[in-house]
Amino acid sequence: MFLNHFEYVAPNTPAETLELVGRLGSKAKILAGGTDLLIVMKTKAISPEYLIDINGVEEFKGIVYEEGKGAVISTNTKLADIQYSEEIKAKYPALAYAAGEVGSSQVRHMASLGGNSCNASPAAETPTPLVALGAKVTLESLSGERELPLEEFILGVRKLDLAEGEMLTKFTLPEPAEKSACRYAYMGRRDTMEIDCVNMAVNIELDSDGETVKNVKLVMGSVYPRPLVSQEVPALLVGQKLSEELIEKAAAAAQGEAKPIDDIRASAEYRREIVKVLARRLLKETYQAAKGV
Ligand SMILES: Cc1cc2nc3c(=O)[nH]c(=O)nc-3n(C[C@H](O)[C@H](O)[C@H](O)COP(=O)(O)OP(=O)(O)OC[C@H]3O[C@@H](n4cnc5c(N)ncnc54)[C@H](O)[C@@H]3O)c2cc1C
Repeated sequence: MFLNHFEYVAPNTPAETLELVGRLGSKAKILAGGTDLLIVMKTKAISPEYLIDINGVEEFKGIVYEEGKGAVISTNTKLADIQYSEEIKAKYPALAYAAGEVGSSQVRHMASLGGNSCNASPAAETPTPLVALGAKVTLESLSGERELPLEEFILGVRKLDLAEGEMLTKFTLPEPAEKSACRYAYMGRRDTMEIDCVNMAVNIELDSDGETVKNVKLVMGSVYPRPLVSQEVPALLVGQKLSEELIEKAAAAAQGEAKPIDDIRASAEYRREIVKVLARRLLKETYQAAKGV
């Protein structure tokens, strides 16, 4: 398991990075934590001629939260910094929790938020809560920048809406709505550092009465080639006060939308069962949290 021969370049500023990304194009790969990239390179699935190490670029690290506006998280912010950020824990607990469940402490101190999305693995931890929270990504190149919802950036297994010469620079999270809550849960053998066989996040916003659902977003991971946003759950729950019966119907609807596969981690049949269990549990928990109970 040897790495191919490659040239290592280490820019110090965003401008230098964009120049390298633009000039080297598909011959290069960005190296953030390297916790996915180097493993894929060792399998010879990819053999880039250049690695652009962005760890010397301070502007690509950090979390800025502004009350009433939301948070901006730069691409190379390490998952451990997200896990322990007081602001992320207070305002976006689903994301702090998901970041804290990735791998081990050593992995979380190297692995970046951007790398977790750019690796485009259906089983990745943080894209699921980020999509539920309404996160947008900023993609930059020498010719400018564009912003799009994370669910439109991740197109499938190892597939991104990322043009040659572009890189992801940051995530923007809106301020959570009043009377809202977002929660995350997963099923997987974490004690063996195994990645999830199913994960899920639910975001619920209530009307001013504090009981009627105004908006709900249920997002599933590891049951589809990309984060799967349920269409049926909002159709069933918006405008309703949640009861055990409605939650059961919504969980069954999410189960029907999931399209899991059999693999070494779990069978498709088991994953479908878990979708229902997690949806039931998360809808209840998130509804209670949004009500402030
Ligand atoms: C032991 C172990 C356990 C793990 N457990 C988990 C787990 O439980 N859950 C989980 O989700 N993942 C897990 N992972 C996978 C990995 O740690 C995460 O996906 C991590 O967030 C990747 O981030 P990174 O910074 O290391 O990415 P890198 O490996 O540096 O990059 C990953 C890919 O994204 C590209 N990339 C990185 N940044 C950018 C950018 N800004 N713009 C464009 N492209 C970019 C790279 O070129 C590469 O193709 C585990 C890995 C290991 C080794």
